[in-house]
Amino acid sequence: MTEELFRSDHYLKSCEATVTGVEPRGIELDRTVFYVMGGGQPGDSGVLKLADGSNVRIEDTRKGEAPGEIFHVPAAGQAMPAVGDKVVAEIDWARRHRHMRIHTSLHLLCAVIPAGVTGGQIGDGKGRLDFDTQEPLDKDTITERVNKLVEEDHKVGVRWITDEELAAKPDLVRTMSVKPPMGQGRVRLLDIEGVDLQPCGGTHVARTGEIGKVVITKIESKGKHNRRVNIAFAE
Ligand SMILES: [Zn+2]
Repeated sequence: MTEELFRSDHYLKSCEATVTGVEPRGIELDRTVFYVMGGGQPGDSGVLKLADGSNVRIEDTRKGEAPGEIFHVPAAGQAMPAVGDKVVAEIDWARRHRHMRIHTSLHLLCAVIPAGVTGGQIGDGKGRLDFDTQEPLDKDTITERVNKLVEEDHKVGVRWITDEELAAKPDLVRTMSVKPPMGQGRVRLLDIEGVDLQPCGGTHVARTGEIGKVVITKIESKGKHNRRVNIAFAE
């Protein structure tokens, strides 16, 4: 079980940790700042700095089968640490921050397009959401409306509700294919004040202004009920 420091503070770039497991598929730590791939957001890359001055380069972060199991996936051909080693775990912050900006922009897309979400993906500098709608969507209009929400610099925060409260408010759940993780008693909501509120476990920027200017690059028709909206940084 790894303590997931990245869940409560999206701006943590590094932490001290102890190696608790070493397997061919990855290194386990007692705590980590590395976001573990999930919810359409890629796992973090970065480095584990050992006490002897050597570094283990991490190229991905993946879930194991057991709940709370997180594997830091090392790049090929490196010396592995040993169980019990103290490390400083440090993410590639520039890459993660781009993920946070794109991820937050997808919430703004949800606010602009009032339809169920059937899928999505966050990449480096770009992302996409699939909407269950037959309505024609206009690239320029959506670009303008998302950028207005960016410029208005809305506060982005996290709050929690109980499973019962969420069950009583099914309209909070925008994703049609992926249900929020219930069964732990409470669910994390991502709240862009006055704009968007929905369950989400990813990492986000603190204010919408931090996203910067974005552009809808492409809207594709993926079947009768499905519109794929692609978004990217404008510069
Ligand atoms: Zn989110």
